[in-house]
Amino acid sequence: MSNTDFAVAIEDLTVSFDGFKAIDNLTLYIDKNELRVIIGPNGAGKTTLLDLICGKTKASSGSIKFRNEELTGLDEHIRVRRGIGRKFQTPSIYENLSVFQNLEVSYPAGRSVFGALAFKRTDEVKARVQVVAEEIGLADALEMESGLLSHGQKQWLEIGMLLMQEPELLMLDEPIAGMSARERELTAELLKRICKGRSVIVIEHDMEFVKQIAHKVTVMHQGKILAEGSMEAVQADPKVIDVYLGH
Ligand code: ADP
Ligand code: MG
Repeated sequence: MSNTDFAVAIEDLTVSFDGFKAIDNLTLYIDKNELRVIIGPNGAGKTTLLDLICGKTKASSGSIKFRNEELTGLDEHIRVRRGIGRKFQTPSIYENLSVFQNLEVSYPAGRSVFGALAFKRTDEVKARVQVVAEEIGLADALEMESGLLSHGQKQWLEIGMLLMQEPELLMLDEPIAGMSARERELTAELLKRICKGRSVIVIEHDMEFVKQIAHKVTVMHQGKILAEGSMEAVQADPKVIDVYLGH
């Protein structure tokens, strides 16, 4: 496979914060339709890697290609338009709006809240909201005020807000933190469904969860890749046990 066949091709990527390399000459390739999980100890650089891909942080050197186009140098909003969706650790839904409205304002045609509320609810938007609401298990809660949703439902709503934009790359940072066991199961099912037709990168600590969802696991340590492969291979790797799983 040549490097141009990957959905995401990251090569020799480095970012320094006052001389400290949070990402250190990292090379990583992700396929289309792949669900990649990134694990590693706190401070390994996992969140920083997502920041670099979505454009929140600028790379010091190296390349990030998405569908064979260079991303470094592009602003965050342009990367969103190119099809990159990023979910942060804390959900950023509009608590006083309904589930429907949160999804509606996330439709690409009406990105700002005010514009979108004035925006006529076209059949196209309604249909898309319905599809996404079913995907995230909130079809029965469309008229509910979002602030009243459970913690897990709020996380799903935020994933739904990203899905409204039909991203080709979706990145989720610790999506199951604080969820109940049942919510974790449902999230695993959700992630397995939504990686079809796109690439998904998930940062997660819960190894049972990782085992359920991962196609391949990348282990990061000190801004570098320590190991990469199947869950079984990575779990049996003495380097990984030493710096991460052994604790
Ligand atoms: P992880 O998500 O794997 O726990 P992070 O990517 O959050 O790790 O952090 C990696 C390292 O980079 C940490 O040592 C962190 O303190 C540092 N770091 C992250 N962002 C910044 C920043 N904007 N300025 C300075 N240091 C940062
Ligand atoms: Mg992090």
